[in-house]
This record gives sequence, structure tokens and C-alpha cells, in this order.
Amino acid sequence: MQCLDCQQEMRWNPHRNHHRCLSCNKFGFETAVDDPAEPFEVSDGSPGVACPRCHVGLQFANLHGKWRVCFCDECRGYVIEKGCLATVIHEKRMTYQGEDAVPTPMNQVELKDRLQCPACLETMETHPYHGPGTVVINSCNGCGVAWLDYWELAAIIRAPGRRPPRGSSPIVPARPVVDFGGRERDPLMRNGLSLLNLLLG
Ligand SMILES: [Zn+2]
Ligand SMILES: [Zn+2]
Ligand SMILES: [Zn+2]
Repeated sequence: MQCLDCQQEMRWNPHRNHHRCLSCNKFGFETAVDDPAEPFEVSDGSPGVACPRCHVGLQFANLHGKWRVCFCDECRGYVIEKGCLATVIHEKRMTYQGEDAVPTPMNQVELKDRLQCPACLETMETHPYHGPGTVVINSCNGCGVAWLDYWELAAIIRAPGRRPPRGSSPIVPARPVVDFGGRERDPLMRNGLSLLNLLLG
């Protein structure tokens, strides 16, 4: 695949289902945004926060039909509330019926990533996802959101390892909005609305 921006060659990343330009870092995709393995449905309205990789404005979207995320059109990465992430992983690993993916080595370069939280602008923690799959994710301890790159969730869902028993509930449910604390301390207030509440909505 050739880069649409600079016409240079792109490198295929089979583990994350995307191409990336060797020259300008632009992402390229062969699957549609609504591919069933990791489907996004972009909705109206912008949360007023920018992609930590591409620095373009994020858009609200539904992931897997119901999980509210702030989505980047360019790289397909997204912001998700951590409790929602734990719940969607639980649900999707529990009901996954395909074959387990072949384990891949951890990408050591990704562990050196330093991303700024799109929501509260603190530096996010970069760490291996503690569950199945060799996936590096970025999470913000300040405001309770995580940043996932494209196909990391699909990789976690397909990874070999113990799966939650049918009918079980996640250990970490999505955090109730009221537990977040006082409105005035909410680092995610945007024009009188809390981004976190919007992500849980
Ligand atoms: Zn390029
Ligand atoms: Zn992006
Ligand atoms: Zn944050």
C-alpha cells in the first residue's frame, strides 16, 4: 500500500491490522471502520479533545454497538473509560467464538511511548495490558480513561488464555458516574458537561 499523503511505501503490521507510512507515519487500513472484529459507529458531536498521536480532533463513536468512545478518524485509536474497557473485554472474550490468535511478542518500542492524556493532558502510563494478549496500552491515573490503538482490543479478545465463564459478570464494572467525585474536581469538564459522564452515557 502507498501512503495517500506522501506516496511513500507503507509497512504492514499484521498484528494490528494496519499499514503505517515509513516516511510520514500516516495510518492505512484495508478493513472498514465498521469491521465486525472492532466496529466503530461514528456519531455526531465532538468532545473537544485531540488525538495524542495525530493531533486531530476526536469524534464521539460507539464501539461494538454500545460503548461510548472518543475516536480518531486518522489512526482509529480511541479514548475509553477504564471500567467500560474492562467490561467490554469481559463480554467479548466470554462470547468470542473464533480461533485463538497465535501469541506474538510484546512490542518493546511501544513500551517507550509517552502519550499525553487527550482528556486531562497528564502524561499517561504506558504498560502491558495485565490480561491476555501481548498488548501495550496507555492509561491515565488522573482521570480514569485509557487510550487504545486500533486492533489492540481485537488482539486482546482473540488472545489465547482463560476466558470468562458464560454468564459471568465483570469483576470491575463500569464506574458509576456518582463515584467520580465533585463536579468541580472533575478534570474532564467540557462546557459544563463531564467527558467522563459522556463516555459512560
Ligand atoms: Zn506518508
Ligand atoms: Zn489518531
Ligand atoms: Zn487523563
